[in-house]
Amino acid sequence: MRCDLHIHSCLSPCSDLTMVPNEVVKYSPKIAAICDHNSGENVLSFYKVFEKHSKLLIPGIEIQSVEDVHILGYFNKIENLLKVSKVIAEHLPKISYDPEKLGYQLKVNERDEFTSLETIPLGFPTDLPLKKVVELIIENSGIPVYAHISRRFGVLYQLGLFPDTSKIKIAEVTNLEEYKIACNHGLIPISSSDAHSLNQIGVRYSIIENAVSSIQEFLIALVNGKVKTIWDY
Ligand SMILES: [Zn+2]
Ligand SMILES: [Zn+2]
Repeated sequence: MRCDLHIHSCLSPCSDLTMVPNEVVKYSPKIAAICDHNSGENVLSFYKVFEKHSKLLIPGIEIQSVEDVHILGYFNKIENLLKVSKVIAEHLPKISYDPEKLGYQLKVNERDEFTSLETIPLGFPTDLPLKKVVELIIENSGIPVYAHISRRFGVLYQLGLFPDTSKIKIAEVTNLEEYKIACNHGLIPISSSDAHSLNQIGVRYSIIENAVSSIQEFLIALVNGKVKTIWDY
């Protein structure tokens, strides 16, 4: 079964306005995660629509540390994601937000109606060090994952190494070279699209061999290395 664990919704300032629940679900594999920049505010609407289509939506977020390293967090419960999202909001820059310059950040409901404009600028690094971001995710029963490790804003691109102190056990890879790096560092590799538009959904994906019926079951498989990439075969 395919899964795409890194999809941005219309809440991310850099994503298309067409990234709304009833469109995303059409293009999405059976299992997907919405991971908006520094916010989990749109996840519930997507969750409801995915449920209606008998697809599994994993609550997620993509947090930017002060070093501007992108860290993904996956959660069993939307409440936990929203707790993290609230803390993150306090650590984003207090600057005025101009959607025309920075991109529209739209909250959406399960009928694809835009309900409000998020005015906290989400596309910026927080003032939290990487270590704190990881702690915040773990404290709220989440699973931290390095995003796109050697692409821009990935840990290797930004820092040149995986910090020794990091409690992260999983790395998102985008090609065979990154896959090998992750394996050599004892990290579990997964792969996802990082889609910002509908046509990008599923272009990269991971595979789970055993069927799962709940978020909890999926996350257990994930931490146990049962979610594979195409390079594992
Ligand atoms: Zn990113
Ligand atoms: Zn992303």
